[in-house]
Amino acid sequence: MINDQRLLDCFIDLVRIKSLTYDERGVADYIKKTLGLLDVDITEDGTGAKIGGNTGNVIVRMSGDEGMSPVLLAAHMDTVEPADGVEPRIDNGVISSSGGTILGADDKAGCAVMIELLRVLDEDRVDHPPIEAVFTVAEEKGLKGAYHLDIDALKARTGFVMDGDGPTGIIITKAPFQDYFKTKFMGKAAHAGVEPERGISAIEAASKAISNMRLGRIDDETTANIGVINGGRAINIVADETVIEGEARSHSISRLKLQVEHMKECVAGAAKETGAGYDIDIVRLYDGFSFRSEDTLVKAVIKAAERSGADPRLMTSGGGSDTNVFNKAGIESLNISCGQQRVHTTEESIAVIDMVKAVRMLEMLLRPEMPRIDGRDE
Ligand SMILES: [Zn+2]
Repeated sequence: MINDQRLLDCFIDLVRIKSLTYDERGVADYIKKTLGLLDVDITEDGTGAKIGGNTGNVIVRMSGDEGMSPVLLAAHMDTVEPADGVEPRIDNGVISSSGGTILGADDKAGCAVMIELLRVLDEDRVDHPPIEAVFTVAEEKGLKGAYHLDIDALKARTGFVMDGDGPTGIIITKAPFQDYFKTKFMGKAAHAGVEPERGISAIEAASKAISNMRLGRIDDETTANIGVINGGRAINIVADETVIEGEARSHSISRLKLQVEHMKECVAGAAKETGAGYDIDIVRLYDGFSFRSEDTLVKAVIKAAERSGADPRLMTSGGGSDTNVFNKAGIESLNISCGQQRVHTTEESIAVIDMVKAVRMLEMLLRPEMPRIDGRDE
């Protein structure tokens, strides 16, 4: 049986432990101690050392009916700032932070929901599939924990990531591809007052490139942005170096490629026009994913949401999460909200009942009578 009070207490404990990216130690230790009392196998991988953090991903395995397909559950342990001295306040069943900090429901709600689910399964001893519960690090800084997780060592081919935004029942079935875009323009320094004609302005080259770029909302699936610009040394020196950084996202890989190609052409054109040199750096930050409403996995989650008293709604996300990494690695995964609202702001909140519904939903999804959730329909 789900214990609402125990779930709430666990959530409150978790949000009180500060866990910025690369410093998730306290939360990981809490999870290991709490789940260590159950009949599970717990390991922590070496991701911390690889990414400059003090904590690895925590992987909790609970054995189950070997005749059923194993299921991956995931939530991340790190939070964004400001997170100094989070003091949760409960008002009419809704938890928020009382100071000028985030609450950290993103994603400690996901962690608390997974912990409660494992406790319930451990107590009730009902039939369920083998479970691989992963608590990742560094999600907020480029999904680094998930990227360093040894996904090949996982048996699950189906996953549920508890890291949405909005009331429980929101199911993210689509998320974009994202590319990081950086260009360094190399000009030539010269005295701006004495011999400006000997100089090549890297600032001018960057400006021309940016002003020719299509940015903002490109089409219904694609966006692009130049978000950082740095360059120049002094007002009396023609700027010899300027760096611009930006991104492009799209739900369509071909449209993303077109947009990035366009941005590269603008750089090349501006460089040619001004005589500046350039160096372009493009990195795929994550791959997108897309499920249809008629896919078996989606139908199962909708059914589980309805039976849990949640209002199922399929949503498209504009950003990435660990879900993108799992899908890319071949684990068909959906991102499910546990009620986190207005995440990444100091107005973040969550209703206790939403977390309870999320545990119910997962419990429902693991039941043997649910339609088999081993992936998409053909
Ligand atoms: Zn999150």
